[in-house]
Amino acid sequence: MKWSVSGSRTFFQCPRRWYYETVFANSRAKDPARKEAFILKQLQNVRAWRGKLVDQVISNFIVPKLNRNEVVDLKEALDYAHKLFETQLAFATARRYRDPSIKKSDDETAEDYCALFELEYGGTIDQKMLNMIESEMIASLTNFFNSRLLAQINESHPYLIAQRAVQFPFADVNVQCTPDLIAFFKETEPIIVDWKVEAPKHKEHFIQLGTYAFALSRAKPHKDFPAEWLSTIADPTKVGLTEFQLLRNRELQYSLTEQDLVDVEDYIYKTSSRIQHMFNGNSSARDPTCFPQAKSANACLWCKFKKICWEESSS
Ligand code: SF4
Repeated sequence: MKWSVSGSRTFFQCPRRWYYETVFANSRAKDPARKEAFILKQLQNVRAWRGKLVDQVISNFIVPKLNRNEVVDLKEALDYAHKLFETQLAFATARRYRDPSIKKSDDETAEDYCALFELEYGGTIDQKMLNMIESEMIASLTNFFNSRLLAQINESHPYLIAQRAVQFPFADVNVQCTPDLIAFFKETEPIIVDWKVEAPKHKEHFIQLGTYAFALSRAKPHKDFPAEWLSTIADPTKVGLTEFQLLRNRELQYSLTEQDLVDVEDYIYKTSSRIQHMFNGNSSARDPTCFPQAKSANACLWCKFKKICWEESSS
């Protein structure tokens, strides 16, 4: 069973939603409800889409250029971002994510793939909202270009790894994390960077960064991790952590203490135990209706699974 920091937040808001997302959704299942859950799982609201666009521009356009020591030009990056914005919006508006011949993982569709909650559930998105999303994407990328972090990268040319999943077993669950960026510098300690267009509560974000460092120390190193840094990343207190709040243009740097590590481990242990307890050791044969629904109706407002959840609850 998989556990992740973002997944555990969903679990505490609504165990049933967590179940739809983590276990039930399956594009290859024979059960049409599981296929539908897979389609609904792809939905994101426009604010989350804005963050995803920024992730994609940094990870797929900027980072590969930096790794090739090429000059990265802001105008070029913004042109790329604008094109991505337009093609993804067209994809979502045409509901192409519902086309059975289109696979999210296919090379030719992966970059354009987009499914928007507002279009699936409400029908339209206000043009003012779209303008705001695009201008905040541009502001976030411009702040990234003018950042201390990018100046440091341009000066030291570290090896950069973007959006790489790292996972490790912990008390019968698989903990999976995907840091936005890992930078392996030549002379100074590696850093893990997490960027957010809009910042969540500080404590949550600190736990998230701490879990990434912890995961990096426990996971089997990927083949491209530089060998000279393997003993350093085995100790999470030696890895730098950077939280970049892109719209606010704030770069916060942390390191973990031994006590922080105990807190992170405790957090992973407690949440994974609660999830396991709910499954009672059986993660495969469950009906979504066996899982408790959200306590607050507000949690359902933006739930992408409400179509199937409400149908199942009323039948
Ligand atoms: S609609 Fe509400 S109760 Fe159902 S899965 Fe979503 S959040 Fe949970």
